[in-house]
Amino acid sequence: MDAECLIIGAGVFGLSIARALKTTGRDVAIVDAAGAGAGASATPLGVLAPHAPDRWNEKKQSQFEALTSLSELVQDLEGETGIDVGYRRCGRLIPLTRDTHLPLWRGRAQDAESNWRGVAGMSIISPDPNWLSPKAAPFGAVNCGLSARIDARNYCRALEASVGNVEVGYRLSHLENSTAIFEDGKRLRAKWIFLATGADAFRLLPDVEEDVPAGRGEKGQAAILRAGPDSGIDELPIIYRDRLYIVPRGEDLVAVGATSERDYSDAETTDTQLDSLIERAREICPAIANAEVIEKWARLRPRAANKRLLVEQHPSLEGVIVATGGFKTGLAMAHIAAKQAIAKIEN
Ligand SMILES: Cc1cc2nc3c(=O)[nH]c(=O)nc-3n(C[C@H](O)[C@H](O)[C@H](O)COP(=O)(O)OP(=O)(O)OC[C@H]3O[C@@H](n4cnc5c(N)ncnc54)[C@H](O)[C@@H]3O)c2cc1C
Repeated sequence: MDAECLIIGAGVFGLSIARALKTTGRDVAIVDAAGAGAGASATPLGVLAPHAPDRWNEKKQSQFEALTSLSELVQDLEGETGIDVGYRRCGRLIPLTRDTHLPLWRGRAQDAESNWRGVAGMSIISPDPNWLSPKAAPFGAVNCGLSARIDARNYCRALEASVGNVEVGYRLSHLENSTAIFEDGKRLRAKWIFLATGADAFRLLPDVEEDVPAGRGEKGQAAILRAGPDSGIDELPIIYRDRLYIVPRGEDLVAVGATSERDYSDAETTDTQLDSLIERAREICPAIANAEVIEKWARLRPRAANKRLLVEQHPSLEGVIVATGGFKTGLAMAHIAAKQAIAKIEN
């Protein structure tokens, strides 16, 4: 199966690289230990949220461009594959708990007018009390109109459908120049190898400074709840409060999450930290007070040491491009990481 380009890892990063490479006509193979979307990219949340629109800078501008270009990409992908990836610019409510916060948010709403260039706005509203409890939002809520959601699992399915077969059962052990060696001894050679194994990729990178790893996995737990039939919540905005997201997913489903854990014993099991988040969600969102929990889920987010995308030629291995570091915004940034990764082999 040796190919010109070998992608290891079929999360949203690897799949986005594969799709972008295929459009340039290159010969691409993609392999994964467990299958497409088996890692963090299957997050139930799928939040696509911008930075605050004040104190505009280069980082905020590039994230704004990523979010706006993603909506175009999604349209193309859905047209090509016929798979609905559940993209909705649904907005995001941030409850206002103190009147002293109002001037700050009014200022931000003004900044949104200029910095978001008419794509979407920010306003202060009185939310539906069955969705966001007035007790939790005594001064109303900010609605961030640029925030969107995506069904991350369907996004991966659509990307996989677009790129063709992902070969499963290839668990990478280590890399040599232009060669990948898998745990069962298989070896694959390619002119270019894209290391897109999410949090696992950091294991194959040297420290950025002495004793400072290039990055690490940070565990996150999330859940899916089912509200009653015809709940009327499917098109409501995301709620965000103190690191807690409540995200409508369609079909009366709501995702709740996520924890952020540096220390963990098992990356893929859930515990009482998730139960506490679900309880907090029920308190502020009456519509899910009695909703049934239908899935609990946990994985590792790939977090680079500087919390940014890590798309680089491997410092010591020829022909190896590393693409990871999506951390909490990987769904919005994967297509940008793909562009950056491909630029590395074109220069
Ligand atoms: C709880 C939680 C909630 C999140 N919510 C959001 C959100 O709302 N919005 C957002 O934008 N981002 C969110 N994220 C972050 C987002 O999921 C990640 O940034 C993104 O999915 C990373 O994609 P990736 O392709 O780099 O990694 P992964 O999706 O982890 O993909 C890596 C792939 O590599 C494979 N693999 C791993 N090791 C090996 C190996 N040794 N050999 C071969 N294959 C291997 C895995 O099977 C997997 O398929 C969340 C993450 C978590 C954990």
